[in-house]
Amino acid sequence: MRQPVYLRTVQSLGRSSGEFDKIEISQLKSVDMASIACWLIDEDEPELVKTLVEAIRQHPCPSIYLRGVVLLTDKNINTDDLSQQCVDTCSNLQLFDKTIANELCSSFSSINEWIDKLPKATEFSDINISFKVLRFLVSRKAEMLPVMSAQVYCGYDYPLIAPMLETNDGTILEILDFLDERALLTPRFITKTHLCNNCNSAFLNFKEVCPHCRAEEIKAAELIHHFKCAYTGEFSDFTVNGKLQCPKCDMALHHIGVDYDKPSVVFRCAQCEHSFQEPEITSTCFSCRRSCKPEDQVSKTINAYSATAIGQNAAIFGLESLFTNILQNKLKLFSPEAFTDFLQIETARIARYKISNSSLLMMQFHDLEKLQIRLGRRAEEVFIELSAIFKSTLRQSDVISARNESIFFMVLTETALPEAQLVAQRLIDAITALFESNLDYSPAISTALKQINKELQVEALLEEFLEKNVH
Ligand SMILES: [Zn+2]
Ligand SMILES: [Zn+2]
Ligand SMILES: [Zn+2]
Repeated sequence: MRQPVYLRTVQSLGRSSGEFDKIEISQLKSVDMASIACWLIDEDEPELVKTLVEAIRQHPCPSIYLRGVVLLTDKNINTDDLSQQCVDTCSNLQLFDKTIANELCSSFSSINEWIDKLPKATEFSDINISFKVLRFLVSRKAEMLPVMSAQVYCGYDYPLIAPMLETNDGTILEILDFLDERALLTPRFITKTHLCNNCNSAFLNFKEVCPHCRAEEIKAAELIHHFKCAYTGEFSDFTVNGKLQCPKCDMALHHIGVDYDKPSVVFRCAQCEHSFQEPEITSTCFSCRRSCKPEDQVSKTINAYSATAIGQNAAIFGLESLFTNILQNKLKLFSPEAFTDFLQIETARIARYKISNSSLLMMQFHDLEKLQIRLGRRAEEVFIELSAIFKSTLRQSDVISARNESIFFMVLTETALPEAQLVAQRLIDAITALFESNLDYSPAISTALKQINKELQVEALLEEFLEKNVH
């Protein structure tokens, strides 16, 4: 049975004496992570709330940082205020009891069930911030909306994910762009803003300056056009004792639109006396103080984001490891250590009996990530077919291991180089056919084959292989 857990700072012991566990930040590591329903924060000081939420969201354990956070407060918080908050929801401190706690638990049950689906949910495994942001977005199953804020550098904030980052220097926009480029998120246009082209600050000062000497002190004057005599001059030329009188023909002016009009405005520079119709505009950054033309600043689109189907998939398995995970399930994939042990035994066996030949096959996919994005929601299905190809081409006695997400090592037992060459070719042909029929695109695959003997240096071979196949 999951229960809410109070999280508190060391400095403050909080006010409520609820019946739930209370832990301090320093104890986060020792909490029973599977039993947390949500985090309760019962602090008034915004700084303390921030410290606690950051401790939760910056934690590398999915069962800690993905949980719902509830702020217990005396204040009335409406939906609008809530969207500015870095917590999932707020609850009235005075009314908080077992019943409300149960309601909160069930409101977070879909998030908690999703967390349960994650492999290694209780390990301290998530160090990549982009991946954490993706997981967070997927776990909430809702669109993440930007909020205008003077508290952050880039002027727009995503308050729920902001506490995952240690700084508010605009990195959040870069992370969302990164996930968007990889088709893991779908953007929806909300607004746009100008950011400093040097430091990404949204706080820019737009000023009109003299186009001649660039002085900022310029004065605007209205022009007056007298219909009767066609004279046009500045407003000050027409004022005589508080009334308007034409300096050319001395007639009094009475009604705008009837005997005169104001066709435009002229500017005069207080420094160089230059007069002009169009001042130049310059923009100066409040943060780094650099000035440039407004059109040279960065024009940035601010979006709301939700996860794509491929993003939802990648949030569970990790973007790069989707294929490895499927292989792991469908084939018996040896760990790198077990593979090395096996290779040593095989080398010794061959040396001892001198009657058999085995081969080592290395295979690298150069753009697995790109393939996965192109495949979108079909990625999983196609990767399952891909692992079926491995399974049908290799024999039971062959051993396969993933070096990383895209490099695979295989020991083809009792297979001399010429036959191994055929096996490799059969694999490549089948894989290419699979991708061509699904994507109209052939993937870049490199292979290397070596006979297994005492001279075989796997690490040196891998080095050489990777060097040769840099893409
Ligand atoms: Zn000037
Ligand atoms: Zn006149
Ligand atoms: Zn700047």
